[in-house]
Amino acid sequence: MQNTVLVVGAGPTGLSAAAGVASIGKKVVLVEKETVLGGAPILSGYAKLVPSGEWAKDAIGRMVKRVEDDANITIHKGVKVAKLEGEAGNFTATLSNGEIVQAGAVILGTGFTHFDSINKPEWGFGTYEDVVTTTQMEQMVSAGKIACPSDGRVPERVAILLCVGSRDRQIGREWCSKICCTVSTNLAMEIKELSPTTDVFIYYMDIRTFGLYEDKFYWKSQEEFKTKFVKARIAEVTKSADGRLLVKGEDTLVKRPIVIPMDIVVHAIGMDPNEENPEISKVFGVGLEKHGFIDKGEQYTSSFSSTRAGVYVGGSALGPEDIDTSISHGLAMAMRAVGDLNALVQKAA
Ligand SMILES: Cc1cc2nc3c(=O)[nH]c(=O)nc-3n(C[C@H](O)[C@H](O)[C@H](O)COP(=O)(O)OP(=O)(O)OC[C@H]3O[C@@H](n4cnc5c(N)ncnc54)[C@H](O)[C@@H]3O)c2cc1C
Ligand code: SF4
Repeated sequence: MQNTVLVVGAGPTGLSAAAGVASIGKKVVLVEKETVLGGAPILSGYAKLVPSGEWAKDAIGRMVKRVEDDANITIHKGVKVAKLEGEAGNFTATLSNGEIVQAGAVILGTGFTHFDSINKPEWGFGTYEDVVTTTQMEQMVSAGKIACPSDGRVPERVAILLCVGSRDRQIGREWCSKICCTVSTNLAMEIKELSPTTDVFIYYMDIRTFGLYEDKFYWKSQEEFKTKFVKARIAEVTKSADGRLLVKGEDTLVKRPIVIPMDIVVHAIGMDPNEENPEISKVFGVGLEKHGFIDKGEQYTSSFSSTRAGVYVGGSALGPEDIDTSISHGLAMAMRAVGDLNALVQKAA
């Protein structure tokens, strides 16, 4: 029986799982395909996180340091699992660098892929320089300056379009990405703080600042920072003769067509399944659900089980999730994996 747990992916989910397993006294091998740990918040350069307001590099940096400082955790960066053989209690993983890892359980924290706005060409991304994504806008906030990418001018008006690559049946993305409303209302406040002369508009179908985020983000953004919320269906983003962007669509409250000039248009991009999930499904022998996220085994008495015994899955690999939930999933998977391993050891004794 192997006493080690193999954790794949070093985003918030995998980092939490690794720290959790190590804290109960088991060894961990953590495998991350990138050469930097931290997952999407670090790899994509998020600014201040919701709801904590902490800079991503500090908050996630602490999670990375905790794992790096733990003698029970061995880290492999820039590496993937190429093959997984065996069964619960006795897995053998072959890494892409040829190394072999023996493990009793496997935890998948392989995360998601940001929606690529190129797949929504009518909304101007890839055509106009001043159409950017939330992650690009967050990078601008991190750098401390709000300016039009095309010519560096301070924008008079910024539009944030919600649900880009989410809740869109036309392009096969039926799910709500859960966190982008809250991230966008927060981003509107950050833009205003850095550039007080800029007006920020949010175009929405519905506002889903779920749970406790309603007053902290939606109302605060509207009342204290004067973000303007417009319920609308956006048809296209084009350019006017004077070089400004034109957001065209229908104001769905008053049922009138709208054409609004803007200086920057921000796509609030959603969360797609990890684009590598077909490969992950083959290597780890786990099923995918109909949208392409990794499938759950059983929901209630074996939460975070995948469809293969001894392989667990959580965080945004299962579907759109926020960081706090992903961290909880990581800890829950640690508990599950170690609990199941202990049960196997007892049975074998
Ligand atoms: C624009 C945007 C802004 C957001 N801002 C916030 C916010 O402010 N607050 C918040 O709570 N949430 C936010 N989120 C959600 C947040 O990004 C996720 O909740 C979080 O990243 C999920 O963590 P994860 O570890 O499950 O996945 P990820 O962060 O995607 O990490 C997965 C890790 O696994 C690695 N990996 C993938 N495949 C493999 C493989 N085959 N082998 C080895 N390694 C692999 C990846 O390189 C990555 O390091 C935001 C999301 C978006 C789209
Ligand atoms: S959280 Fe908001 S922006 Fe994101 S998909 Fe859901 S409704 Fe759309």
